[in-house]
This record gives sequence, structure tokens and C-alpha cells, in this order.
Amino acid sequence: MKRSIDIEGIGMTSKRTRMRLVERLRTEGIRDPRVLDQILDTPRHLFIDEALAHRAYEDTSLPIGFNQTISQPYIVARMTELLLQEKPLDKVLEVGTGCGYQTAVLAPLVGTLYSVERIKPLQDKAKERIRTLGIRNVYFRHADGTMGLPGTGPFDGIIVTAAPAEVPPELLAQLADGGRLVIPVGQGDHQELRLIRRQGAEYLSESIETVRFVPLLGGVIR
Ligand code: SAH
Repeated sequence: MKRSIDIEGIGMTSKRTRMRLVERLRTEGIRDPRVLDQILDTPRHLFIDEALAHRAYEDTSLPIGFNQTISQPYIVARMTELLLQEKPLDKVLEVGTGCGYQTAVLAPLVGTLYSVERIKPLQDKAKERIRTLGIRNVYFRHADGTMGLPGTGPFDGIIVTAAPAEVPPELLAQLADGGRLVIPVGQGDHQELRLIRRQGAEYLSESIETVRFVPLLGGVIR
């Protein structure tokens, strides 16, 4: 009983509060009904500290420990929309699991999701949340996602939620023909969200909007 109340949420964490967030995202230009439905159904308050749960449905990023953040709902929705725009995605790679919110929004909309995180304690918590929500098509890997996941690709879609200075060539190489990569690129305040589509040996890059992500870092933390 306690658990179902937690997932459902009450007051500031209720579905009604989530509905208001969805309305806001709609006015900000998010159109894909599959994505808006996922935002409506995903209890973001379970992905952050209880002390911050009352702010879960503000359209803002929040701290999750280890110097990391949960992304702003608008950005999660936008990146998911960009990834899904063209065709159904069978195999998808996510770099930067963090708290797992983006994972929870995206997983039900794709075949299989491989999610890579370099900080083990964050990954462990994310894994537990994803399990609690009954999502079963996610494989978690503790690794440096800058390298992608050699031997697992090619991927129909790759989503990166931390910003490298330049697009890692390994990620481009692991993109299937016709695949889509959504990635923030740049340092500090000068980052842009890019959509890169692979067509054979060609990569078509489009700049979407300016964004602010934590940096994509090398190495792993146990
Ligand atoms: N996707 C999250 C936000 C992630 S924040 C959400 O839904 O809100 C960015 C995450 O990327 C952090 O957890 C950080 O540890 C992770 N990260 C940074 N560099 C990485 C790398 N090279 N490989 C894997 N994960 C990385």
C-alpha cells in the first residue's frame, strides 16, 4: 500500500501536478503525444531526494548528489522527441543514466535500451527505481560511455545526457545506418544540442538549441 502511494504520489507529487507540467511542456513546443504521455506517467518525484520531492514537477534540473543533476523535464522530452521522430527504434544506447529519469521516460518507447553510467552508486539507485516501476527492457552497464558499448551496437538511436567538447567518434561509429544521435556538445556555458543522422558513410548534423549539461567525463567511479 505504502509503495503504491509513493508511486502514485499525493499533493505536489500527484498525477494532477504532472498534468500541469505536461501542459507547460506542450506550450513550450513538445508535440509528440507518446512523449507527453510518458512524462505524465513517470513519477519524477521518485528519482530525486525526498527533501526535494515537492519540486519534482517544476520544469527545472535538480541536484542528485555526486555533483550531478536530474535533467529539466523539457530537455528530457525534447531529446526523446528528437530521437523518436523518424521511425521505431529497436536498439538504443543511453550515455549518462544518472538518476534514471530519462531512462524511465524513454525505455517504454523503444525495443531495448542499454544505459551506461560511470558513477556506480547512482547507477545502483537508478536500477532499483527502474525495477520498481516494472520496466524490463533496460540493460545497465557501469562504464565510460565515451567509448559507447563496443560489441553491443550498432544502435538505431544514441542519446547522451552529459556534454563532451566534441562528438566522440566511437559513438558515431556505433550508430546504425539511418540511426540518430542526440547529444549536447561544448564546454561550460557554450553548449548546443545536436541531432546527428547517419546515412551510409555520411553524418548529417543539425543544431537544435543551446543547452546546459554536466560534462561527459572519462573513467569510472566505484
Ligand atoms: N539522464 C539523467 C541526467 C544525467 S546527468 C536524467 O534523466 O536526469 C549526467 C550523467 O552522466 C551523470 O550521472 C554522470 O555521472 C554521467 N556521465 C558523465 N560522463 C559519463 C561517461 N563518460 N560515461 C557514462 N556516464 C557519464
